[in-house]
Amino acid sequence: MEIVSHWIDGRASDSTSGRHADVFNPAKGEVQRQVALASVAEVDAAVASAKRALSSWRNSSLAARTRVLFAFRELVNQRRDDIARMLTLEHGKVFSDAQGEVQRGLEVIEFACGLSHLLKGDISENVSTEVDSWSMRQPVGVVAGITPFNFPAMVPMWMYPVAIACGNTFVLKPSERDPSVTNLCAELLKQAGLPEGVFNIVHGDKVAVDRLLEHPDVAAVSFVGSTPIARYIYENGTKHGKRVQALGGAKNHMVVLPDADMDLAADAAVGAAYGSAGERCMAISVMVCVGSAAEKILPKIRERIAVLKVGDGLDPTSQMGPLITRAHRDKVASYVANAAGEGAEVLVDGHALKVPGGENGFFFGPSLIDRVRPGMACYDDEIFGPVLSVARAQSYEEALGLINAHRYGNGTAIFTNDGGAARKFQREVEVGMVGVNVPIPVPMSYYSFGGWKQSLFGDLHVYGEDGIRFYTRNKVVIGRWPDPRFRGVDLGFPQNR
Ligand code: NAD
Repeated sequence: MEIVSHWIDGRASDSTSGRHADVFNPAKGEVQRQVALASVAEVDAAVASAKRALSSWRNSSLAARTRVLFAFRELVNQRRDDIARMLTLEHGKVFSDAQGEVQRGLEVIEFACGLSHLLKGDISENVSTEVDSWSMRQPVGVVAGITPFNFPAMVPMWMYPVAIACGNTFVLKPSERDPSVTNLCAELLKQAGLPEGVFNIVHGDKVAVDRLLEHPDVAAVSFVGSTPIARYIYENGTKHGKRVQALGGAKNHMVVLPDADMDLAADAAVGAAYGSAGERCMAISVMVCVGSAAEKILPKIRERIAVLKVGDGLDPTSQMGPLITRAHRDKVASYVANAAGEGAEVLVDGHALKVPGGENGFFFGPSLIDRVRPGMACYDDEIFGPVLSVARAQSYEEALGLINAHRYGNGTAIFTNDGGAARKFQREVEVGMVGVNVPIPVPMSYYSFGGWKQSLFGDLHVYGEDGIRFYTRNKVVIGRWPDPRFRGVDLGFPQNR
């Protein structure tokens, strides 16, 4: 059986660790290939390759570096459907959604193409007599990226195009669940002219991650994944002296006020809750209905769920695909199975779903749980599946209080026709990304992506200007060219004259 190999020194590198994991086609429930799980020595080889490449890459001109990214952008654009097909086959998301993932990744590559403009420093002339001061941003060195299964192309693209354009070299540890697409991207980077060693891939599990966290030659770590692992990465990476940004899980609330356009809100809630089978960190997983909103919107949501087509992501009529693994599907199902016992009301139960021809696939139907409250597992936990919970609030203040008390703070949205209420919400809500009549407010590539509270450990968000700050160190220079008037010893603290 095919084994997805590492990518080191600009070429595929077969694993010698003797450890592998199965990669499934989740729509069929069948193993389609295996992926290598790196040993410590293999991680060391990838980091050594990145370290060897660093000096010449960081000393190549900005123009030369961004030229590679322009060429890469063209190649990804040409191959977007091949990439999307790979995503569907290993992740399960429907093909049109996979195309959307590639598009959002492309936008970050395009942002990185324009990096020359954003890497400009500041200069202050004559800060003291005939003394000038200026700042510059320099690469941090070898950077590691550790990424989740749910966006196997896009999330790595949040990281490596920006890191590489800034002059760093990169070691990526993708999710072992859907690893193939990153190897295709490595091939495309090579075709685009990226020198060997600037971008490396080690596939693997905790062994590889732990080695990256402690490796003395890794300067910075970008992580995206679940909150327990994000906290672990942040604590261990910083303990080893690394700069770390670690993005974690989410429980995104959508507030519906009674004056909202209920058709718009129902379309948005269904799309944001069940798109990609709810396996999005920006999925809406709780809808908070204020006052009479619940009675108005719930029938509309049920109507829409009833006609959702679930099936193989390569079938163009499918709107929602399977979950990533059997174990994850069963965990998602258990939240729905236990909800009634916790005091909630299951309005639509995904257990009833039958997918013709997909009997062995990891499918679970869209589910709707009403009267959910804090303290219930289906409210407190990130389920990461096609389950929309409904919480009821008497007032705007009660709805806001729920969101602000939740431990996650990734995304949120409000649906209303009252501009004043929306403005108050965007000011008061303790969440990093906010939508006003927009259910999934993923920032464009020239803003930065990141949540608050337990959705982010570290302070800098990914891509956009924060991405540049994360992948560079600021340096300030104060320069004087000799002027005979200021010769002579001065024992005082340097001062302005
Ligand atoms: P995960 O945390 O299980 O895995 C993420 C990465 O960490 C993978 O590369 C995995 O191999 C590695 N890993 C897993 N267990 C580890 C361990 N014990 N020690 C060291 N490394 C380990 O996440 P996932 O299931 O792949 O992805 C889904 C999660 O990612 C969800 O919680 C979702 O909300 C989150 N996510 C967050 C964002 C965001 O921007 N905040 C974006 C996408 C996904």
